[in-house]
Parts: sequence; C-alpha cells; structure tokens
Amino acid sequence: MNNEPSVAAGGRGGVECVCVVPPTPSAWVGRVEHEDWGFLMSAMPFDTGPGGLFRYCPKCAAAAMRAVGSKLLRCEACGFELYMNPAAAVAGVIVDPRGRMVVLVRGKEPGKGLWDLPGGFVDPGETAEEALAREIREEVGLDVTAMRYLGSWPNVYPYGGIAYRTLDFGFVCEAVGVEGARAMESEVERVLLLEPADVDLGRFAFPSVGRIAGEYIKNIGPKPQT
Ligand SMILES: [Zn+2]
Repeated sequence: MNNEPSVAAGGRGGVECVCVVPPTPSAWVGRVEHEDWGFLMSAMPFDTGPGGLFRYCPKCAAAAMRAVGSKLLRCEACGFELYMNPAAAVAGVIVDPRGRMVVLVRGKEPGKGLWDLPGGFVDPGETAEEALAREIREEVGLDVTAMRYLGSWPNVYPYGGIAYRTLDFGFVCEAVGVEGARAMESEVERVLLLEPADVDLGRFAFPSVGRIAGEYIKNIGPKPQT
C-alpha cells in the first residue's frame, strides 16, 4: 500500500478493490501536515517514545542508543542504526443500505470506551486491503465485497509504554448484511449503526480515524460509490 496518486484496480484476496485518484497535491500536503499531527508530536516527544525505552543496543548490548532526529536511534558504541518508521494501519467506513455507518465502541486501551472504526495494523506480507478485510471479519463478522481508498493520516498509538507512530489508511467498504455487524472480540465493546449526522467526530479515540470518518461524511455521501 502506498500513497502515490495512481489508479489501480484488481481483486485481492477475493475482495474487489478500486483505488481512486486521491485529492489534488495541495490538498494532500494539507492533510499530511494537519494540526492533529503537530499536537500529537508535541504531546509525545520522541524521548518518551521508542527513543526513551530502547536504551540498549540490540547488536552490541551497550547502553548507548541515542535518538538522532525524529525517527532514528543510533548506538554510540558500535554505530548500529535503528529506524523507527511508521507502522501501517487501516480503518474502514462501512455503511448499511440505509446509509448508517458502523462505529465501534473500543473495549480496550488505548481509548477504551471511545469510538473507533473497524481496522487495525497491517501484518507483514499483507496488502492494506487484505489487512482491512481481515480486521473487519475478525472485529465485526462481516465479509467485505468492495473497498475504495479514501486517504491516509498519521497517528500516534500508545501501547506498552511506547508511542508507536502509525500511518492510517482509510477506505470506504461495502459488505453483505451490515445490519448484522456484531462485536466478535474483546477489543470491541459494542457496535453502533449511526446516521452520518449523528457521528460525533470528537468522540473517536484517534484523530486520524476521526479524520477518516469525517472525510467520508464530508465528501462521499450516504452510500459508498464504487
Ligand atoms: Zn551497539
């Protein structure tokens, strides 16, 4: 998965995927440098993230790992370098035939009790589309039949004392029997079906996921057009 402004279509894992041309370059730059990311970075400076936790070099074991810039740790003893690049994550807007959106109430930290969209981290070797179809099946028991790319937004995901930097890819998804979506695992406390007008973007656990929901509500309309 990447964010290049290209057109691609094809089946992946039985899922029809139609990627559309993303917004204009100026709009794209505006997204990447949006205010949420600046807030997150200032709230979680690098030295309280991986750079603060990974003190020992995984190669020579010296307590000499130092942060160099915003994403690089370098061992001052042996020169080993560890890049802390963003992890890829996905989230899907799923809409039922009446135009209601599937919104999850998170059952676990971070953000327990707050809202979320179905999705999660991309596993090694997966495409973003495969990861999202898998996560939707695991979380709410739906089989995705089509998806369309919305855009990407950076996020910070605090877990186990580490502030993981992620890049969250948003899609609009179609699925059969959306009204039957139900919480399939403990990460999901409840599944809500909400009219877009009732979706409070401020209740999402992560600004990036709120932006994905907001982008759909703002630009796409009540039903996915694939
Ligand atoms: Zn070292």
